[in-house]
Amino acid sequence: MSDNILEEIFIKRSQQKKKTSPLNYKERWFVLTQEKIAYYDFDPDKGKRKGLRGSVDLEKIKCVETVQPEPNAPQERIYAFQIVYDEGPLYIFAKSEDIRAQWIKKLKEMVRFNKDLMHKYHPCSWMDGVWLCCQQEVKQAMGCKVLDSKNASRRRGSRKPLPPTPTEEKPGRPLPPQPPEPSAPSVGMTVIAEYSYTPMTPQDLELRKDEEYTILEMSDPNWWRAKDNYGNEGYIPSNYVVEAANGIEKFDWYCKNMNRSQAEKLLKTENKDGGFLVRDSSKAGKYTVSLFSKGGGETGGSCRHYNICTSPQGQFYLAEKHNFNTIPELINYHQHNAAGMVSRLKYIVSNRARPPSTAGLGYGVWEIDPRYLTFIKELGTGQFGVVKYGKWQGKHDVAIKMIKEGSMSEQDFIEEAKIMMKLRHENLVQLYGVCTKQRPIYIVTEFLSNGCLLTYLREGLKQHPTAVQLLEMCKDVTEGMAYLESKQYIHRDLAARNCLVDANGTVKVTDFGLSRYVLDDEYTSSAGSKFPVRWSPPEVLLYCKFSSKSDIWAYGVLMWEVYTLGRLPYERLNNTEIVDQVSRGLRLYRPQLANEKVYNIMTSCWLDKADERPNFQKLTLTVQDLLYELQ
Ligand code: ADP
Ligand code: MG
Repeated sequence: MSDNILEEIFIKRSQQKKKTSPLNYKERWFVLTQEKIAYYDFDPDKGKRKGLRGSVDLEKIKCVETVQPEPNAPQERIYAFQIVYDEGPLYIFAKSEDIRAQWIKKLKEMVRFNKDLMHKYHPCSWMDGVWLCCQQEVKQAMGCKVLDSKNASRRRGSRKPLPPTPTEEKPGRPLPPQPPEPSAPSVGMTVIAEYSYTPMTPQDLELRKDEEYTILEMSDPNWWRAKDNYGNEGYIPSNYVVEAANGIEKFDWYCKNMNRSQAEKLLKTENKDGGFLVRDSSKAGKYTVSLFSKGGGETGGSCRHYNICTSPQGQFYLAEKHNFNTIPELINYHQHNAAGMVSRLKYIVSNRARPPSTAGLGYGVWEIDPRYLTFIKELGTGQFGVVKYGKWQGKHDVAIKMIKEGSMSEQDFIEEAKIMMKLRHENLVQLYGVCTKQRPIYIVTEFLSNGCLLTYLREGLKQHPTAVQLLEMCKDVTEGMAYLESKQYIHRDLAARNCLVDANGTVKVTDFGLSRYVLDDEYTSSAGSKFPVRWSPPEVLLYCKFSSKSDIWAYGVLMWEVYTLGRLPYERLNNTEIVDQVSRGLRLYRPQLANEKVYNIMTSCWLDKADERPNFQKLTLTVQDLLYELQ
C-alpha cells in the first residue's frame, strides 16, 4: 500500500539561499506523505521519478499560502504557493488553480497543529534580496500581511455560490467540519470577553462579558496579560475572549468557531422551535444562520442553514428584498419576520451558557488551598482511592481525587502536574491544581456530571444511541488525543474507563500520563493483573514500548467499547491468552453497530507494525469525514 497522500509534477523555484545565487525553475516530482513533502528529479520522456532532490518535514512547516505571481510571470508560473519552514519559503508553481487549492488545503490540514505556525506572511515572493510585497530587505523579516485564519484554514475547495432568496446552504454536498481554529490574536489587539471571569488570584483581571480589553502580553498561551478600559491590568484566561474583528462577537447568537454539525447538535439539544444561531460559514469570511424548526413533518424537528449574502453595495441580506447595513440589524429584522425562511428567528441558542474551563484556578496557580474546597459527595473509587465531587470557593464545580497514601509516587507526580496544568483542550479533563501540603494529597480537576464513559455506555444512554452519537463520542476522543499527540504526550492508559462525559454528552479524556506514578506492581507490570492488557498492542505486551502509536491501538479498542456499548474486549479470554493470541494476530470482531467504514478505522489502529497505524491527526480527519457523510 502506498503511503503517498498526494503526488504531482510542479515547477519549483531554486531557494536562493544566497542573495547572489541565480534563480532557476525546474520541474520536480513532488510527493506528500504523512511525514514530509519530498521532491524528486524526473524524466519527462519516460514519465518516471528519479533521485530525491530535497524534502521538508511537515512538522517544520510554519505556513502554507498562495503567492501572488511575480510581475510578468509566464503562464506556467501563475498558480504559485509557498511552504514556509525554518529555512525560508519554498516556492512551487502548480498547473492549475484546482491543483494548487488541493495541495494547500491538504497541507494546511496536516500542519494545523504545528507549534510555530505564523500569524503573518509575505503575499509576494522573496526575490534578489527583497520582499516584493513590502520591500523589506531582510529575508527573515516578519510577514507584512496578517493571515486571515478563517481564510487560511476554512477554505474547503471550490464551493459554488448559492442562489439567493433566501439562500439555503445545500445539505447535499458535505464539507467535513473543521475543528475550531483559534484566530491569531497578537499583543496590542483588542478583544471582547465572551464570558465574565471573576479573578481567582490577585494577579488576575476581572472580565465583564461583552466588554473590550487590550492584550498586553501573551507569553503563557493560557493566561494573557490584559488591560481593561479603566486602566486595570492583570491576567485573563485566553479562552474567555475573542478578537474584536467584526462587531458581532458580543452578540449571544454569534457562535464563533462553530461548524455545521456542532450547530445542529446544539440546536437539537435545545429543541426549541425557531431556535437559531449565527456561525462562521464554511466559506471564508461569510456567516450562516442555522435555524431549528419543529414543523415540516420530520419527527423531532430539523435544521436549516441560510447563508448571509452581501449585495454589490456591501449590504447584508437573507431574503433579497430586505437589505441591511449590519448583520445585527439583519438578525433583528428576522427575529420578527420569517421572510421566506421556515420560521422567524424566535430563540437565541448560545454556546456561551456556561464558561469553559480555565487552565488552573487563576494565573500561575497550581497549589490549591484545601480550605477553599467543600466536599459534596463521593463519585467513586479508583486506583488512587476515593474521588469526590465538590466546590472550590463555594461556587466552582470540581472533582477531587484523594490520593491514598502509598498508591502514588507523589513527588514525581507533583513535578509533572505543573506540565499537565498547561494542557488545555475541550476534549481533555482539565487539571486545576493540587493540594500537596497535607496528606493525603489531592488532585483537583474539572467535574463532569455524566461520569465515566464506560458506565455511560452501559447504563447512561437513555435511548438507543444513533450512529451520529456513537461517532461523535469517538470524534471527541480523537480530538483530545490529537492535541496530546501534538504535545508529544503519551496517555498510556486510554480506555473508556478513563474518559468522562459532561452534561452535554461531550466526551473528554482523563488520567493522561498518570499511570507512570502508580505504585502497584499489579498495575504497572505488563504481567500484572491490573495492567491494561486488553488495550495494549503487541509491542507493549512484549517489550513495554509505549508511544503515541500504542495510544492509537488503545483508541481502536476504545472505539470498539463505544460500538459494543461497553463490552469487555476479548471477554472470553484471560490476560495470558490475550498476550499470546494478540501477538499471533488475533483481533476484536466487528461490533454489530459498527459498519465496515467504522470497523476499518478500528482495524487500522490494530496494525501489527506501529508505524503503519494512522496518527491521531489523521484519524481526526477520517472520523470527521465519516461523520459528515452521516449528516
Ligand atoms: P483513578 O484514576 O484513581 O483510578 P478514576 O478516575 O477512575 O480514579 O475515578 C473513579 C470514579 O470517579 C470514576 O469512575 C468516575 O465515575 C468518577 N470520577 C472521576 N473523576 C471524575 C470527574 N472529573 N468528574 C466526574 N466524575 C469523576
Ligand atoms: Mg482512571
